[in-house]
Amino acid sequence: MSKTTYDYDVAIIGFGPTGVMTANYLGSFGIKTLVLERDKDVYFRARAVTVDGTTLRCMQALGLDEEAKKDMEVTTALRWKTYKGFEFLRWSPADDSPWGHVDSNMIFQPNLERTLRAGVDRYSKHVDVKFGYAFSGLTQDTDSVTVKAVSDSGADVEYRVKYVVGADGGSSAVRGGLGIANEGKTKARTWIVIDSKVKKSWPERELLTFWSDPVRPVVDIPLPGGHHRWEIPLGADEKKEDFDSTEAVWKLLGAMDVTPDQVDIEHFAFYNHHIRYAQRWRDGRVVLIGDAAHLMPPWAGQGMQSGIRDAANVAWKLRYILQNGVSDRLLDSYQPERQPHVIKVTASSVALGNLIETKAGLPTIMRNFMLPIVSKAPGFKKGLKVKPDYDGGFFSVAPSKKVAVGKMVPQPRVTDNTGSDRTLDSLLGTDFCVVGIGVDPHTIMTDAQQAAWALYAPRYLTVLAKGSTATSADQIVDVDNVLIPWFAQYGVKTAVLRPDKYVAATNNTSLDMARVWK
Ligand SMILES: Cc1cc2nc3c(=O)[nH]c(=O)nc-3n(C[C@H](O)[C@H](O)[C@H](O)COP(=O)(O)OP(=O)(O)OC[C@H]3O[C@@H](n4cnc5c(N)ncnc54)[C@H](O)[C@@H]3O)c2cc1C
Repeated sequence: MSKTTYDYDVAIIGFGPTGVMTANYLGSFGIKTLVLERDKDVYFRARAVTVDGTTLRCMQALGLDEEAKKDMEVTTALRWKTYKGFEFLRWSPADDSPWGHVDSNMIFQPNLERTLRAGVDRYSKHVDVKFGYAFSGLTQDTDSVTVKAVSDSGADVEYRVKYVVGADGGSSAVRGGLGIANEGKTKARTWIVIDSKVKKSWPERELLTFWSDPVRPVVDIPLPGGHHRWEIPLGADEKKEDFDSTEAVWKLLGAMDVTPDQVDIEHFAFYNHHIRYAQRWRDGRVVLIGDAAHLMPPWAGQGMQSGIRDAANVAWKLRYILQNGVSDRLLDSYQPERQPHVIKVTASSVALGNLIETKAGLPTIMRNFMLPIVSKAPGFKKGLKVKPDYDGGFFSVAPSKKVAVGKMVPQPRVTDNTGSDRTLDSLLGTDFCVVGIGVDPHTIMTDAQQAAWALYAPRYLTVLAKGSTATSADQIVDVDNVLIPWFAQYGVKTAVLRPDKYVAATNNTSLDMARVWK
């Protein structure tokens, strides 16, 4: 007889950066979660090299940002330079990030993943992590998903769960098992990625440099903890086998005057860049996140970060479905919210890559002439970053430039009624929140609207102007004078904020739940 009870509420397949973030979120919500991870330890190759302020905000929601920052170094600058020494572009991370964190930080991915995994240990009552278990298939019906896996000792196991999160990377067996195509293209050019440990530093090592050259561009990346990376493309007439030895790798490094006195080679690997999207990111009770759902070139440093944003998006939706009885139609908003954003960051990544791969002749002359001029224009550097805004999804109207809906709210400091200065998110936590801008939101939201939103159990907060005093726990003071002007520019008096800090609805669009669900 088939099972009628559930072994877990959610099974996460894969414990890479996106799976581990999902496990942290679900654990923090007290959701009974199973993680199946094929490998015994963190993948040793450092792939992602950077995280920005919005990704740190996700880690902050889990109380992991400060621990993660211990292994990070703030990016000094990114520069794009020709081998002849001509610098045509430089980007220094702005220190005015609205997200409450520095907007560009260098990471060493294996260390970051270890910190995130240690975070999951806090939730051992709710989250079971099984290492050495390879997902092997699933079947689903209207009420459940049965997940199959094989342990590394060869035992077949089966679990009945309510939802599955496929976070098993670019070659996702979950995606494959569902017959979902991974559409797009893979670039023909193969890159060798060389990771090293520095023994003796050299001038300007701390600058992340894109060395532009039509034949052999190089990305030269300082990583925290004395690690250093080079990413180098192979020529059209070169094969992996030509470089698949330490001696051959030294020849490549030697051509850039890097010597064995300066670094020890830790490892090297070959990659081809992909631009691919899973055809659909939800199939019944299964969602795909991270590299399982999308793959992009590394130039904008956004692959892992996009997966982390997927995790933040899916986790709160599962929470309200599983704990508050919200319809699982809510999961239909995941792909319309996340995919357009992933497409934008992929396009920016491709554009940044094109800058170093520019063909010789007129394109290079144009780039070297134009960029130093254009890059001085106000707003150019900010324009290099894709905003976190969403184009559609669980929102009261279609997001646009003119409305706050669909935008991520900034994170300034606020003061609570104890007089303590706190970051906004430490006060909001991961709940829904209805904020009144200089007004008690209950006086603006109708009783019917409040009754409808009660399904999401929001908190109600009044934001008071700088110079005021909060006299109760449902008041905060905008000490940095950021929130009130931010909402004022969109004419907002009351807004519903989602757990991922996006504005879902406002009084000047609609505060009706029905409008958010349309
Ligand atoms: C050279 C390079 C540079 C990059 N630079 C950046 C950067 O600067 N910034 C950035 O944000 N991103 C960067 N990326 C991308 C980033 O590394 C990936 O996007 C990120 O690791 C994806 O995370 P994930 O959790 O989705 O998948 P993965 O990291 O691939 O994790 C998947 C996990 O699933 C497990 N798994 C796989 N199959 C199974 C199975 N059948 N059963 C159970 N478990 C399974 C794997 O063992 C693994 O632990 C870079 C990538 C490369 C290659």
